[in-house]
Amino acid sequence: ITDKINALPDGAEYFSLEFFPPKTATGFHNLQERLERMTQALRPLFVTVTWGAGGSTASKSLELAELCQRQLGLTTCLHLTCTNMNRSLIDEALEQAKVLGIRNILALRGDAPRSDEYRDESQPPEQDSNKDFTYAADLVRYIRKQYGDYFCIGVAAYPEGHSDESHPEHQDPLADLPYLVEKTKAGADFILTQLFFDVGAYDRFEKMLREHESGVFKTIPIIAGLMPIQSYQILRRTTKLSHASLPVDLLERLDAVRGDDELVKKVGVQIISEIVDHIKRRPGASKKGFHFYTLNLEKAVSHILEDCRLIPLAYSTDTEAVDTSFDVGDL
Ligand code: FAD
Repeated sequence: ITDKINALPDGAEYFSLEFFPPKTATGFHNLQERLERMTQALRPLFVTVTWGAGGSTASKSLELAELCQRQLGLTTCLHLTCTNMNRSLIDEALEQAKVLGIRNILALRGDAPRSDEYRDESQPPEQDSNKDFTYAADLVRYIRKQYGDYFCIGVAAYPEGHSDESHPEHQDPLADLPYLVEKTKAGADFILTQLFFDVGAYDRFEKMLREHESGVFKTIPIIAGLMPIQSYQILRRTTKLSHASLPVDLLERLDAVRGDDELVKKVGVQIISEIVDHIKRRPGASKKGFHFYTLNLEKAVSHILEDCRLIPLAYSTDTEAVDTSFDVGDL
């Protein structure tokens, strides 16, 4: 991933798409067709595949990662969590990723399976017999120790906190900072952020990292996490889970149309496009990256990418531009 980012010209913008492994064979088949359509039309720099907390989706995540990397030829990043699962599962996942030609891992701690949105309810939770990994930084160090520079490693970061002091983990960007420094020093190559809607909070967060006295964030790619708004209910649920705040003006725009799903999506596309445009226009990092939590859905993200002109031109082998026009309404 970082080789591809480095190869982009100064001032370039790029984006990635996140997918999760469907639970059923039919779901997988449908996603396969959608993935083919989407990635051919949209040309993301890379795609990522989520990992169920505790390894609950291990085989399905690897199956989807294989489809992306091998069959579709996409630069693929496998998410991997390290707590609440057997260490052997981590070793197997890394080995399997290598066999499949996957060169990118998003190294995560993970949450306790029962409280996690990525949890596959059909699988029993693994026993936490693994005491080697407490935090994501432990996984970053482990991958570097076992595999040297073979894998390009990403880590997660959180632009916003939450005000619930009684929460067992009081997420707070400032309190988190030393650990993000630790993860980065341990060998992270890029940073993917949690989704956000408050672009002011994101600006402050990125500035804090870029100016940090350690200097470790000076040039590292920081990729802004964005979730297309699919419905009012999903939005309220995901903002609660991710602790992303919804600025009052955005909430008012969505509240005004909350009874009409199509209008919610339309306003949602406008809102995310405005956030992308704001980040694109802002002076700062020479290259701007955006990561879309697609929820395996294509329309909203396609509209955002088209509105924001983020879809790269396709080039034939002799580098002549080819026709890239398509109607996202067809997707
Ligand atoms: P860490 O960096 O380990 O941090 C976790 C907490 O521990 C933080 O509060 C931090 O401040 C604290 N901490 C870290 N180090 C120390 C230390 N040395 N001493 C004391 N405290 C410390 N979850 C999944 O299950 N599957 C996925 O596929 C998945 N994908 C994700 C993708 C992205 C882009 C993001 C942002 C999150 C994703 N998650 C996923 C969720 C993630 O696993 C949880 O948010 C988890 O609670 C934290 O993971 P982390 O890697 O940020 O943890």
